[in-house]
Amino acid sequence: MDKKKFSVGYFIAAIVIIWLFAEYIYKPYTESKSEVPYSEFLEDLNAQNVEKVDITESRIIFKLKENSSADITKPEQRPVIGGVIFNNSSKIKKPETIKSAVRLPDPFLIERLISGDIEFGGIAQRNSLLDMLMGIFLPMLPLVIIWYIIFRNMGGGGGIFSFGKSRAKELQGEMTGVLFKDIGGVGEAEIELREIIDFLKDPKRFDKFGAKLPRGVLLVGPPGTGKTLLAKATAGEAGVPFFFMTGSSFVEMFVGVGAARVRDLFDQAKKKAPCIIFVDEIDAIGQSRMRNFNSNSEQENTLNQLLAEMDGFATNNGVVIMGATNRPEILDQALLRPGRFDRQIQVVLPTEEGREEILKIHTRNIPLDPEIDLKNIAKVTPGFSGADLANIANEASLLAARRNAEKVNMNDFDLAIERVVAGLQRRTPLTPEVRKKVAYHETGHALVACYLPGSDPVHKVSIIPTTKGALGYTMQMPTEDQYLISESDLKNKMAVMLGGRAAELLIFNEASTGASNDLERATDIARRMVTEFGMSEKLGPVRYANSSMMYLQGEAGNRDDLGESTFGIIDGEIKRLVTEAQEHSLNILREHEKVLHEVAKSLQEKEVITSDEIEAFVKNENDNNNNNIQEGN
Ligand code: ATP
Repeated sequence: MDKKKFSVGYFIAAIVIIWLFAEYIYKPYTESKSEVPYSEFLEDLNAQNVEKVDITESRIIFKLKENSSADITKPEQRPVIGGVIFNNSSKIKKPETIKSAVRLPDPFLIERLISGDIEFGGIAQRNSLLDMLMGIFLPMLPLVIIWYIIFRNMGGGGGIFSFGKSRAKELQGEMTGVLFKDIGGVGEAEIELREIIDFLKDPKRFDKFGAKLPRGVLLVGPPGTGKTLLAKATAGEAGVPFFFMTGSSFVEMFVGVGAARVRDLFDQAKKKAPCIIFVDEIDAIGQSRMRNFNSNSEQENTLNQLLAEMDGFATNNGVVIMGATNRPEILDQALLRPGRFDRQIQVVLPTEEGREEILKIHTRNIPLDPEIDLKNIAKVTPGFSGADLANIANEASLLAARRNAEKVNMNDFDLAIERVVAGLQRRTPLTPEVRKKVAYHETGHALVACYLPGSDPVHKVSIIPTTKGALGYTMQMPTEDQYLISESDLKNKMAVMLGGRAAELLIFNEASTGASNDLERATDIARRMVTEFGMSEKLGPVRYANSSMMYLQGEAGNRDDLGESTFGIIDGEIKRLVTEAQEHSLNILREHEKVLHEVAKSLQEKEVITSDEIEAFVKNENDNNNNNIQEGN
């Protein structure tokens, strides 16, 4: 239904509800306000004041003739209080002309009405059953409406009676139309998925050989690497319907709903086989039952149902279930057993060539300036996911459109990369003191990076606040993809992260809250060095990673596995590594304090400085040092 018709429908429904209220609840209520004794009704009847009578089973509602009582809307009939004519019209009330009385058993009532030539009937002729039903159900209506609205919102539009229905229904097995040519940099994953595509295209061919195909394929990789896109392309290449669900949407607050949704999803998919069911964030339902201490029986029921459905597949019935997760280690082992998600495909961050391919795909319809070389952009974006690159292409074209330019140029791409990394610039004026602190903080990061061998080169330093919440930022651009990182590289990374805090300590003799994110990242590296990479002599070449995860989440129950003393050593080692990194950067900055002052001053003046300018200050320092040495000689 289109939106307009929908709101007209709501409008009409609202009018009907208001009318029903007015007619059945409000009106009888207001009428009953002018309730009079039955004797008064008889008096009015005898005085021939009554014009019309409505009789119900229990009441008599009667209308008085217009002239039966004083009409105070007429000035000559207004009440006189203390000799003064009461003239304030807002306080004048028209006399009640409709009254009601409890109906007493009166065998002569009808006769009296007929003989008095009084019109009667009315309400009594109404369907009294309807009256009764309205009386019961109408007061409940507002509650029902509120209930409906709450559950509609909670159920994501599924409606109150469709909790058990899977939301995949909305897609009705969509034909995605996505092909592998729309995905870049996932060559190996594509090769692995070819087999599944061949199977989906012609499941019977595989039956002939008695071959059993994987029922479940798990795509594993960091966010934004194109897992969903790959699953869609698998369906698109095979030309089969695609059912999409996210793990979290299975789980509702109502017990049994998740399991019912799984059942419903598989029922629908079987009807459309061959097809693909794709469950994104499968960890939301597939979390290990052992691991899940806050055992959530609803999640467990949903998982059990999923396992049962996967077991219940007839071999080669043409339904392939694909799942995606970036945390495979927390999945229940039962999900990964043969016959279930027995094939895992790693979808990793794209390499330089991959990034170039992805950029080509996302700039297909963007007019590019001939000076742009996508290879160069791919070079300066290590660690970017496909989603980041798609975002960069989009931001660059938005910037060009805002300039009213014909084509997107390299500057647009530079700014777009900066936006994706650091966020949009915020023009919030900082006080001079804060600007000074931020300038020294950012210069601290930049100089430690300059003086430490092997650090990612500094591209730009800025003290313009960004929408990502930073008051300034130092942008480093890695020169190549890093597959292996050495212990000294990690220590250097930590030192650069703590360079900002070190500069604050050195110049202002105290730290500020500005370094909290730096501390978090540095501590994280230290923790992984100790618990995952075996880089602590005290703890030895032992991996404590799983425990460290528990440890991180503060799940004290599992601390027992290692014993408090081991945890104490882990804590001590993490602290040692972070403190050493801070000392290291403090030493570097002490040694080059003059450059620190020069760069921070320039940064306060210009707000943004580039790598070239920083290098000029460093070179100048070297030249001066050399001159001094020569003079000394
Ligand atoms: P998440 O784990 O967060 O669900 P995902 O791995 O499923 O992420 P997608 O949703 O497939 O990632 O990717 C998001 C968007 O990023 C896609 O719509 C697409 O525009 C772009 N994208 C990601 N990877 C690629 C790629 N390899 N080639 C082309 N575009 C990509």
